[in-house]
This record gives sequence, structure tokens and C-alpha cells, in this order.
Amino acid sequence: MQRIKIKDLLKEQKITEGVLIKGWVRSCRGSKNVSFIALNDGSTINNIQIVAEAIHFEEKLLKQITTGACIEVVGNVVESKGSGQKIEIGAKKITILGHADANDYPLQPKRHSLEFLREKAHLRFRTNTFSAIFRLRHALTFAVHQFFNDKGFFNLHSPIITGADAEGAGEMFQVTNFDLKNLPKNDNGEIDYNKDFFGSKTNLTVSGQLEAELAAMGLGQVYTFGPTFRAENSNTSRHLSEFWMIEPEVAFADLEANMDLAEEFLKYCIQYCITNCADDLRFLDNRLSEEEKNLKKEERSEMGLLERLQFVIENDFERLTYREAIDILRNSKPNKKKKFKYIIEGFGSDLQSEHERYLVEKKFKKPVIISDYPKGIKAFYMKQNEDGETVKAMDILFPLIGEIVGGSQREENLELLEKRMDEMDVDKQELWWYLESRKFGTCVHSGFGLGFERLIMFVTGMKNIRDVIPFPRTPQNAEF
Ligand code: ATP
Ligand code: MN
Repeated sequence: MQRIKIKDLLKEQKITEGVLIKGWVRSCRGSKNVSFIALNDGSTINNIQIVAEAIHFEEKLLKQITTGACIEVVGNVVESKGSGQKIEIGAKKITILGHADANDYPLQPKRHSLEFLREKAHLRFRTNTFSAIFRLRHALTFAVHQFFNDKGFFNLHSPIITGADAEGAGEMFQVTNFDLKNLPKNDNGEIDYNKDFFGSKTNLTVSGQLEAELAAMGLGQVYTFGPTFRAENSNTSRHLSEFWMIEPEVAFADLEANMDLAEEFLKYCIQYCITNCADDLRFLDNRLSEEEKNLKKEERSEMGLLERLQFVIENDFERLTYREAIDILRNSKPNKKKKFKYIIEGFGSDLQSEHERYLVEKKFKKPVIISDYPKGIKAFYMKQNEDGETVKAMDILFPLIGEIVGGSQREENLELLEKRMDEMDVDKQELWWYLESRKFGTCVHSGFGLGFERLIMFVTGMKNIRDVIPFPRTPQNAEF
């Protein structure tokens, strides 16, 4: 007999004899005569109800059907007499595949806090919330590839170990196979990286952009989708030390085209989830409104989860320049009343998340794209504007998330690029290969980076980034 997945069983709703299902017990209740088992196999948020009449089974076996146990059931699909489900399984044979001692198993059929479940990250896949999140994470992965494939992009596997610091921020994890207790030194007494595994100093990548640019100058349009690593000590609800990034890079595209692509892409991914993950989204929508019931009225979200997703798809993102954003912020109430932690003085101030949230949640009440930032607060590779002060950068800010996308048109002019690298103290020698893309057949091109977990946060309504990646890595934490 072949196993049928619970998702398919519930979809077919067919009264049949002799089906085989396997899964994990979510709960088991009942009386001396009959047990009702809620079984889930991960294929869907929905459980199937198993009805086991005591006369058909040994008491010893029934006692082992506890929350968390893995069981196999053979039975008939029948119309359910109870409310809440159309069909259920009348069990004929039950086999315990894996016990879960009720005294030891940490998950109970009740609501656990997200913090508690983070400590049980090895088991949290068995909860409604986390199974929904990780099914959505999969759906979004699929949507990303679908979107770019349909547009004729090529997926590029950029290296995870690199010698370059793409962001120039210096927040990198070093990769070495040196014996740290016995480091080779050169004549000057410095560590001799010629003797390291790769013959030079290497680290985990913070971005695949530089490599993607090279590929775009041949393949036309590419995207990377891989893990990136940042050794920044920012213990926030929006930062991970290991996160996944999607970085398209497009030849012949200017900043305007870059913004269009990013907006279309975000809307596509969200629509994909609405179309393909209705059950999971409905569950998370309810979860969020339940969670927010305990909050004060002014702390609650104005929209429910599904409503918010729909709203983002249906409305154009607000586009404004950094200068316009600064004007709005300088004249805003919280700035004048000194309610912001960082007061906006004028051109040159970096936008903090409190400012981003003001623009998105208070002023425009929708996603915002800010462009043309001062060159001093952006990376060396961004296309310089003619005003000499700003660069063709763009950030996309989302409600509740803040920055979700950072991108730019790239400086394609060799002379200007080299000058900027000198000004910013970026090692030209180290990036000789990057500079050659400007020396040989350069062209206008643009790209951006989307933090995958921030997109998942938005789609699932989760407020902590640690809850949308299976095993989060953050400062002082790399368990599991
Ligand atoms: P932030 O200001 O939020 O730290 P950033 O300016 O450092 O972001 P970029 O270097 O432009 O971000 O990276 C591109 C995208 O990657 C960001 O828009 C964000 O979505 C995501 N991102 C950046 N850092 C992290 C992180 N530590 N954890 C998760 N996602 C991140
Ligand atoms: Mn950052």
C-alpha cells in the first residue's frame, strides 16, 4: 500500500477504503472507548483526524499515541461526524514508528512562545507556525527562480569564499586553516598569508555583487541567490550573521529600470504566495491578529497580514529622492519635537530605521523607494551623479521591516571609479579584475540586493528575523 499525503487526502475528500498515512501526532484526546488523534505530516497546515475505537486496539498501544509520536495508520476515509472537518480516518491498524515520551517531549498542544521555540529550533518544524513559515520560505525560493527564469535571467553561483570586501565595511568572517596557536610570520613579524590555504587572506562573502557584475558583462542579465555573512555585532530583530541574499545584475539598465525591476519582483513574489499558499497565509494572518490582541490599540498594525500583502501588490511604491526625504523628515513633527533619537540636520545625515519607518508608516503608508543618496554614505561602486554630491543609489523601505532592498546603478566609467576608490581608500590592486570590466567593453548596468529573510518576514508577518530561517546565526549563537 502506498502512503498518501494528508494534503492530497484533504484535497480529494474522497470516501475510500484502505489508505495509508504517516505523520506526527499533534494531539490525542478522547475517552475510554475512543481516541481522536490529530495527525500532521508537514504537507499542509491542516491535520487529519484519526478515530481509533478502543476495542480494535491494545491499551498498551493506545497509551503510546502521545503528542510528538510518529505513527503509521491504515484505515478508511469516512465522513466525519464531528464538526470542523469533512472527512476523517477510521483507524484499522496503527503502528508506532517513533515514540515521544510525554514526560520529556517539550512541545505540548498549546501555544508556546516564539522565544521558547527558538531554544527548541530542532523541533519547531512540528508546530503550525513554523511549518507554515518554512513552507512559505520554500514557495518564495521557488518564486524567485521562476521570476528571473521567465525574464531570461541566468542564475549565477557566486563564490562563498572570497578575497574581496564588496561593501568595504570590513565586517567579515575570516576563512583560514592556519593553526591559530602557531601562526607563520614573515620577516616583519606579520602573519604570512602566503602560507595560508589559498595563499592569501580570505573571508566569507558579504555580497555576490562584484562577481555578478562581471557575469552580467557577458551574460547580460544574471542573479545570485545564496548565503552571505556579516560579522556585524548588531543584535537587532532584522539582522542575522548568516542570511540569504538575491542579487540581480543587469547590463544596459539604468537606475530607473533597476527600480522598476525591484518593484515588479517584490510584487511577483508576494502574489505567488497569495496564489499558492492560501492556507498557510490564512493561518499566519489569524496568528498575527491573535498576537496583537494583547497590544495597546496604537501598537497594533493598521492592516491584517493578507490585507497588507494585497495592498502592496495593488499600489505603486512611492518614489522620492534622498533630498526630498530629508526635507520631509526635517519638517516632520518627531524631528521638530526631538522625538527621533537621531535628529535630522540636513543633507548628509544617514537615515536610521526610525526615519525610514516614519516615511513608510506615517507619511506615505506604503513601500517607499529613496534614491540619489549622498556619496559619502554609500559604497564606492555606485554611479556618481553630475551634482558631484550624490550617487545613483536606491533603497526600498517596507512597512514594519524598514530596508528590504539596497541597490544602485554602477559606476561604469573607469576613471571615475578609480578616483572614487582612491578617495575611499579601496585597494585597487586587490580588485584588479573588477576594474578590468570597466577597461574592456564597459557599459551602463545596475543591480540590487534583496535580503531574503526580510522578504519572508514581510510575507509571514513575523517580527523577528530569527523566526524565518531554520537555524539562525547571530552574535553568541550558532547552536544546532
Ligand atoms: P541595514 O541598513 O538594514 O543593515 P545594509 O544597508 O547593510 O542594511 P545592504 O548591504 O544594502 O544592507 O544589503 C542588501 C540587503 O540585504 C538589505 O537591504 C537587507 O534586506 C539585507 N540585509 C543586510 N544586512 C542584513 C543582515 N545582517 N541580516 C539580514 N538581512 C540583511
Ligand atoms: Mn547593515
